[in-house]
Amino acid sequence: MTEPVRLRPRRPCPICNKPSQQKTHPFCSARCAQVDLNRWLGGNYAIPAEEEEPGEDEGSDL
Ligand SMILES: [Zn+2]
Repeated sequence: MTEPVRLRPRRPCPICNKPSQQKTHPFCSARCAQVDLNRWLGGNYAIPAEEEEPGEDEGSDL
């Protein structure tokens, strides 16, 4: 079953699943917020952007 998230304003901390604090929402503490931030900064997430697809010949049909 999927939980109706919108009915629950207080979501658990995505890092450690502890009850989140209003002060550091949606995390339970500033530390977890930092952990999440580091994940993004250090993880170097690659955002799928418009890239050239090799081997795709579009427009050569007409
Ligand atoms: Zn936490």
